[in-house]
Amino acid sequence: MAEKISVAVLGATGSVGQRFIQLLQGHPWFAVNELVASDRSSGQRYADVTDWRVSDSIPESARDMPVKGLSDPLESTIVFSSLPGGIALEVENRLAGEGKSVFTNASDNRMVPDVPLMIPEVNPDHASLINTQRKNRGWDKGLIVANPNCSTIHLILALKPIWDAFGIELAMTTTLQAVSGAGYPGVPSLDMIDNIVPYIGGEEEKIESETLKIFGSLNGGEISPAPVKVSAQCTRVPVRDGHTESVSLKLGKQASIDEVIDAFATFSGRPQELGLPSAPAHPVVVRSQADRPQPVLDRDAENGMASIVGRVRECPIFDVKFMVLGHNTIRGAAGASILNAELLVKEGYIS
Ligand code: NAP
Repeated sequence: MAEKISVAVLGATGSVGQRFIQLLQGHPWFAVNELVASDRSSGQRYADVTDWRVSDSIPESARDMPVKGLSDPLESTIVFSSLPGGIALEVENRLAGEGKSVFTNASDNRMVPDVPLMIPEVNPDHASLINTQRKNRGWDKGLIVANPNCSTIHLILALKPIWDAFGIELAMTTTLQAVSGAGYPGVPSLDMIDNIVPYIGGEEEKIESETLKIFGSLNGGEISPAPVKVSAQCTRVPVRDGHTESVSLKLGKQASIDEVIDAFATFSGRPQELGLPSAPAHPVVVRSQADRPQPVLDRDAENGMASIVGRVRECPIFDVKFMVLGHNTIRGAAGASILNAELLVKEGYIS
């Protein structure tokens, strides 16, 4: 790509916003040119208002950038949004209406019927919903694409190879989610140390509904939800980064455990085929050791862009059960948006 595409990050001072800035450093196609946060931060130097938590120091390129406010005009072609839910919808719709390509992490737009909820390895065909979106809204070049909730994406990356090979009738999961999933400073330390919180507001509903949309089929500009039943229970555990999920599945047809493991290990999708810059070589990584995956050891596999499965075994109630782990602010958020944007650039939706 001769000239890099200019990018703005909304919510740039937060947990996910910081990941965007870290992951986009030195990106071959994208250059971060605008940072946006709340009135608390706007008008100030990025380094002065950001409690940087994702690495040892703020990238030089971002350090001195002025932070813009939500109402300031933006020049960038691509907007990566990590705004809180509730605020995101109106801002993202306005920017897409102005011709920007908006990639959002917030939940507001995920279940809107004409917004693709995309994982490039799973449902890249849903990108064509953008044509319906543009038609519905009278946009000639703007667009909005959402990536799923940070637990949904790792569940689905693990389910996809099985879905394709054997079908899935029922999926049941219990999550053990990291504290960084609640942003910074997030859950108070006195609620987390020595504890597990068995409730994350709205999270179970998100996993259950988003899964049906992502596996749904696109016909005539509409997505029909997939005919699978999903049940989720979500907990917050005292882990810094990396959501773990215990999963049990009833398959559409019989499969041996070796066949299931083989499906995981050999899985690859459109980003791998296209050689997208942020694509992991292996979107699903299989750990064979009895005590893996573990957040501390496995969350950074494939630069945080993979879902790591382990403990694959027979389930005496359903057919198969396993654990899956993935990084919540990388593949669960910023990395997912960046991969979506790379796919849409490669496929000609962004000029
Ligand atoms: P966070 O750490 O609390 O950061 C929130 C960001 O939004 C900050 O930059 C903040 O700016 C900005 N902001 C807050 N209120 C604003 C307002 N009224 N106007 C403009 N900017 C405002 O949250 P986060 O964890 O990064 O999450 C961001 C979004 O990503 C949420 O929608 C969340 O659900 C989603 N998400 C998070 C994760 C995760 O693992 N953390 C994963 C997937 C999706 P100031 O610093 O100026 O206040």
